[in-house]
Amino acid sequence: MTFGEHLQQTQPIAFRTITNGFVRHSPSHAYLLIGDSGTPLLETAQWIAQSLVCEHPIPTACEHCLSCERVLRGTYMDVIVIDGSTESIKKEQLENLQLEFSKSSIENSGKRVYILHHFDKTSPQAMNSILKFLEEPTPDIVAILTTTNPSRLLPTILSRCQNIRLVGQQTHALIASAVEQGVTLEDAHILANRMSTVELIVEAASDITYQELKSIVVEWFTTWAETPDLCIYQMQLSLQTHAFDRQNYALLLEIAEFGFKNRLKLEQGEPVVWETLAAILAKPATMHPEKWLALILKAKGELLSNGNGPMIMDSLLYRGYHG
Ligand SMILES: [Zn+2]
Repeated sequence: MTFGEHLQQTQPIAFRTITNGFVRHSPSHAYLLIGDSGTPLLETAQWIAQSLVCEHPIPTACEHCLSCERVLRGTYMDVIVIDGSTESIKKEQLENLQLEFSKSSIENSGKRVYILHHFDKTSPQAMNSILKFLEEPTPDIVAILTTTNPSRLLPTILSRCQNIRLVGQQTHALIASAVEQGVTLEDAHILANRMSTVELIVEAASDITYQELKSIVVEWFTTWAETPDLCIYQMQLSLQTHAFDRQNYALLLEIAEFGFKNRLKLEQGEPVVWETLAAILAKPATMHPEKWLALILKAKGELLSNGNGPMIMDSLLYRGYHG
């Protein structure tokens, strides 16, 4: 699993917020990642940096190209990481950084990124020196700051950055409480990605449209197990009989995504959350869940950028079965 996929699963809101910027071709010029210790602050910062310089973005980092690899290895010249986790960040380091970035970029992407990890461990004087830099954004320079303690940052820093929160155990707690309230395990997993309270999950799980969308996905996988040749036809027929909007299509893709993730778990010998579908998911000999998950990610991106639901679904099915 790539880090982006991991982030999408474990930090769906942060993932969506960051991805939306890339889908709209307008990533932020300054990010502030806020999270408890134990959340992947530096990894997420590196993933954003990769996404900015990637040679084949999807629209975030492909995580396979040379540029993506070099960002991780720390050898991409235009991505600079200053890590305050062991020693506090000094004013001189920030001044050197600004001096370095006043010259032109070295790498082909033309983008320059600086990551200030644990930025709260910077003296107020040093913080002030970066403030001017943040206040006068240059289109090709992106700042990514991380902190476990936002209360230590100057309010002016907080207000100049796009604040993104990484959650700790919150989603797991949300799923557990939803299940206690009678929501099925699969519904809790699917809906905890988009809902922030148990009440919202309970309400969404009993929504008629949600249940219709879910049964369309179940029917799709059932047809796949029994008469795979009819999959596309059957799916088009199911969708034609409903007037789904773009939000509905997005949810449909998320339910399908969850189905493929469960198939992937089956293939990896891991327990399946969507138990009622496990027997059906096990049937098709070849399903290539990883390929489908990549296609769904792409389709979700297309949908976000004002795409047409039925057309995106058609093209997803075509690429999935014939591509
Ligand atoms: Zn890449």
